[in-house]
Amino acid sequence: MQNKTFYNEILTDHNLHPEHKHELENANFEMDGVNPSCGDEIRLKLRVDDGIITDGAYVGNGCAISQASADIMLDLIIGKTKEEAMRLSDIFLRMIKGNVTDEELEELEEASVLQDISHMPARVKCAVLGWHTMEEMFKEDKES
Ligand code: ZN
Repeated sequence: MQNKTFYNEILTDHNLHPEHKHELENANFEMDGVNPSCGDEIRLKLRVDDGIITDGAYVGNGCAISQASADIMLDLIIGKTKEEAMRLSDIFLRMIKGNVTDEELEELEEASVLQDISHMPARVKCAVLGWHTMEEMFKEDKES
């Protein structure tokens, strides 16, 4: 299992060198997410073509966990279908609740380092902000 140092390294790396923190001109999905309890804000933008997430980015302000979690999520979901991204999000949210199998954890790749958040209730909303925002975005699409 990952140790504390590994967790901090990944979070720090995604904050110092976020790969997906930028504008996305040709996005066709866009949604704001806020976590008032910590002051985290993100605007998530995705480009979806034929049901596949071909590109994605976010801009925002907030704590290290909220921003790193969004960056890590985008790493994971770009190249996947919307359904696959929603399935991974479900696994992530269950991981935070401590209800996940080892096989599922492996599917989350780097996002699995955020498993420790389940022991820090005050930070849970930070960690899930990006994921909830994506879910809202795709749910709205289904209804329209
Ligand atoms: Zn936060």
